[in-house]
Formats: sequence, structure tokens, C-alpha cells
Amino acid sequence: MREGGGRALILLGPPGSGKGTQARLIRECLKVPHISTGDMLRDRMQAGDSLGMIIKRLIDEGELVTDELVNRMVQERISKPDCGKGFILDGYPRTLSQAGMMCRQLADRGTGWLVVHLKVDYNEIIRRLAGRRSCPGCGAVYHLTSHPPAVAGLCDRCGNSLSIRDDDRESVVRKRLEAYEERTRPLLEFFSEEEGSFCEVDGAGDAPPLIAERICSLARSGRPGGAAACSN
Ligand code: AMP
Repeated sequence: MREGGGRALILLGPPGSGKGTQARLIRECLKVPHISTGDMLRDRMQAGDSLGMIIKRLIDEGELVTDELVNRMVQERISKPDCGKGFILDGYPRTLSQAGMMCRQLADRGTGWLVVHLKVDYNEIIRRLAGRRSCPGCGAVYHLTSHPPAVAGLCDRCGNSLSIRDDDRESVVRKRLEAYEERTRPLLEFFSEEEGSFCEVDGAGDAPPLIAERICSLARSGRPGGAAACSN
């Protein structure tokens, strides 16, 4: 493995486990970009062209977008200069094929990684997703009971009306959780085989800033692992 390509922090966990919230907090302490494939796909969807419509249909149905498209998007994004010192991956990889591709890419560029599994039980996930509201303007995320905006329905930062993500509807949430169980959960085993580059963090017991602090100190300590998983 070439050395010197920074370090990637990879947040794994089911929908609603707090990957996005944690990534936004952690980027402040690690000072590296936050790369969310969900956000990138939602942006791409806005173009309204045929690819955008395909992406929208898959997201709205709780299905995963193709590995090929997501791998390409991530590859392009991490080759930008701001990722030289490292980056946070939120929502990627989500399949074994994506994980294999990611391992090869990171090893080639000399980027070590730490995978953090955010553990949250399913009742809590349903509660979180049902109350989640987000700002279409700045992307800020709220929760009706645990993190409400100062004025009901409006974003604290930019005053836009908050909305419910289409894919947070109950029937779609069920599909997303199924996709997680079938296609993403196997990644836990894949990554946990390499000691030193995988850890589990309770994603529900404490307030998000405390959880983020814990993850940041894990990311700062320890050796950059990663290379051995490529041979799996
Ligand atoms: P998220 O915002 O991470 O919950 O992602 C929202 C939706 O985008 C997912 O339910 C998938 O449809 C799609 N998506 C995001 N990341 C990926 C990925 N790595 N692979 C395939 N589909 C993805």
C-alpha cells in the first residue's frame, strides 16, 4: 500500500442510525470533507433528466442505486484535491461489491481507513425516521421531539419550510431496512475481520455531539488500517 493518502472514516449503519448527523459533526473536528452518496444522488436527481428520474424512482422505492453509478460518483469525488488528507464516507459502501471497489481504490492511493459501525436498535430507528424533518435549502436535519426547530416547521438557519423526505414514509422505510439487512449488513463481517480498522459505537445512548467526540478520538488514535481487507 502506498502511504500518505490520508485516512478515510467510513460510517456504517442502518438508515436512521445517525450517519449524516455524525458526519456533519465529525467533519468539524477532523477538518475533512463529508461525502454522502445519498446527498449526491438527491442532487443528481434534481437535474430531472432520464438518469435523474431513474435515481428518483429507486430512492422513492427504497431500492439501492446501481453499484456502477455510485462507485463512479465516489471515485470522482475522492480524487478532488480537498480529499487529499482524508474524508468521511456516509452511506458508502452499501454492498459487498462497493466495499471491494472501495478497498482497492483506497489501497491504490495509500489511504488507510477506519470503519465505524453505529449501532442503534430498530425501534429507535423507526422513531427517528418518523419524526425526521429536513431543510431543502441548507440540508439541516431536525427531529419533531428530540431536536425541534425554534419555530415549528421552519429551519433555524435559513427560515425555509422543513419537509419530510419521500423515502422516510413508513412503507419505504421498511424497504430500506430490508435493503440494509440483505445487502449492507454483510459488510460488518467483511470489515470486522481486520483488527484495528473496525469499531462499533453505540449510536443511541448519548447526545450526538458526545457520540461524535468518541468517534473523533477513535479516528485520531490508532494506526491507519485497511490494506488487509483488500485481499478478502
Ligand atoms: P441515504 O441518504 O444515505 O439514506 O440514501 C438515500 C438513498 O440513496 C438510499 O435509500 C439509496 O436508494 C440511495 N443510495 C445512497 N447511497 C447509496 C449507495 N452507496 N449505493 C446504492 N444506493 C445508495
